[in-house]
Amino acid sequence: MASSAATPPADRIDVFWHEGMLCHEAGIGVFDSGLDPGFLDVLEKHPENSDRVKNMLSILTRGPISPYISWHSGRLALVSELHLFHSPEYVNGLVEADRDGGGKMICAGTFLNPGSWDSALLAAGTTLSAMKHVLDGHGKIAYALVRPPGHHAQPTQADGYCFLNNAGLAVQLALNHGCAKVAVVDIDVHYGNGTAEGFYRSDKVLTISLHMNHGSWGPSHPQTGSIEELGEGEGFGYNLNIPLPNGTGDRGYRYAMTELVSPAIQKFEPQMIVLVVGQDSSAFDPNGRQCLTMEGYRETGGIIRNLADTHSGGRLVIVQEGGYHVTYSAYCLHATLEGVLKLPSALLSDPIAYYPEDETFSVKVIESVKRYQKSIVPFLK
Ligand SMILES: [Zn+2]
Repeated sequence: MASSAATPPADRIDVFWHEGMLCHEAGIGVFDSGLDPGFLDVLEKHPENSDRVKNMLSILTRGPISPYISWHSGRLALVSELHLFHSPEYVNGLVEADRDGGGKMICAGTFLNPGSWDSALLAAGTTLSAMKHVLDGHGKIAYALVRPPGHHAQPTQADGYCFLNNAGLAVQLALNHGCAKVAVVDIDVHYGNGTAEGFYRSDKVLTISLHMNHGSWGPSHPQTGSIEELGEGEGFGYNLNIPLPNGTGDRGYRYAMTELVSPAIQKFEPQMIVLVVGQDSSAFDPNGRQCLTMEGYRETGGIIRNLADTHSGGRLVIVQEGGYHVTYSAYCLHATLEGVLKLPSALLSDPIAYYPEDETFSVKVIESVKRYQKSIVPFLK
């Protein structure tokens, strides 16, 4: 285990990646439906397509952050490793669906095509490698650049473009390697319901999700993401949901991070922090309306880094989730990692037009979430 003595700003981020993850293709249609209704001349790629990740890869390779990046090869997960988070029955079902040739919609918008299963195994194995790298003390900050995403995948259920919960697998690996407590902060625009479900009865994992208030979206996603979903049994109070109003924006997110996320992590005292990042909370994402810009991602990255330096000996594992604007997602990723590096000034300016922000309403919502959590969550009292 790495020394947790005074941590200077890191001079690098260890990025784990494997090009085989580009082989998963979810097809074309009207948005994520996979359907051609026959009355459109031009269909579009499924939003979770390889182009978005190709740009994330290239901006880290050729963008101004590139000198701070150290590249590492990802790997396939073993099927036995998937049982860290998923039931054998669920995993077997996916193995059989792949063996039958794929070409199957597992749940709404979630397509297992030829090549998809290997990509999912690579995403899982690559995230496990990133976590192992930090656990073994080879680096403090690792980023798993992975797809298909994972945070909606529950122990026994695929959901929302996700088959395997990459972050959840890594969290369980950390617990098994002697981390007594792990904190997960999920800033993807959607509720990290799969990760929450996996650790819902545990007081060893604090799951915090900031998301738009989208509620349940069908049988694959029964969780609502509301503030009342706090965990059960020993896990009561260790799942903190922060549903934010549409259009919350940079200042609203900063307020939620400083008023809700930072105090909770301070009290929880984790030995490892996992940042689950989706750029679909950006101002221009086709799947979300939360209106973060590069500046908001940069600030969030900096806040998370400070929390890691203070509470987890600087140990931070970042896991890629959604983010569907093909160019802006890459820029927002760049900004997030700039923040994590605590660079004195921005390396890359925002290419998208200024977006006016009014945080009045989101601040009111965040204050009411704070009052509620303080009134009911034992470890926050
Ligand atoms: Zn998302």
